[in-house]
Amino acid sequence: MLEELIKNNVESLKANISSATQSEPMIVAVSKKKSVDHILAALNQGINNFGENYAAELAEKAKSINANAVWHFIGPIQSNKTKTIASFATWVHSVERIKIAERLNKHCFDLNKSMNVLIQVNIDDEISKSGVQIGDVHPLAKFIEEHCSNLRLRGLMFMPSLTKSENEKNESMERIKHAIEAISSDFNNFDTFSFGTSHDYPIALKYGSNLIRVGENIFGKRE
Ligand SMILES: *Cc1c(COP(=O)(O)O)cnc(C)c1O
Repeated sequence: MLEELIKNNVESLKANISSATQSEPMIVAVSKKKSVDHILAALNQGINNFGENYAAELAEKAKSINANAVWHFIGPIQSNKTKTIASFATWVHSVERIKIAERLNKHCFDLNKSMNVLIQVNIDDEISKSGVQIGDVHPLAKFIEEHCSNLRLRGLMFMPSLTKSENEKNESMERIKHAIEAISSDFNNFDTFSFGTSHDYPIALKYGSNLIRVGENIFGKRE
């Protein structure tokens, strides 16, 4: 049942991606609140990047899965969780403060590893939303490049608001596209732009996403 569901979901996701773009985006299967069996079924379909939002859940799942799953941390980061995140994640999408970057860097140094990080950008300018304002990306990016030698700054992550009208969503996507164009040429290794979820990945791919974070369209609805 589960195997079959996830097989079909992955097949239709891939077909939709092919009709949206010629390129091959990285697919991060967002497994938050989903069981280890869900993740194993996705691994059987050739998916090996998984996204988690909670540090304890990441640790628990990463410890119980031996296969070569690659873990992405995509949720808000509390400073007392940076050690757990550094221990298990290969990618962190949600860096938004110098203090967090410093702590992740220190833990990676202690663990003798390097980690890929993205800066989360607040593109819709909403007070309640996570991410740095577009104008604050530059200083944070410079800090990471200059002071965090165990972090590899690879690009930007965006989580545009889903509650908006079609028009407003397109405007968010335009802002993302401009932000990418404005910033990436200033940094050497910017090659990863993480945006697009189950609700908006086809349009995200048209606006320059090369990493989509898809949960429900792979694993089914969350409770
Ligand atoms: C939950 C989540 C997703 C995936 O959302 P779906 O609607 O399940 O595709 C992507 N990104 C972040 C940051 C999330 O928290």
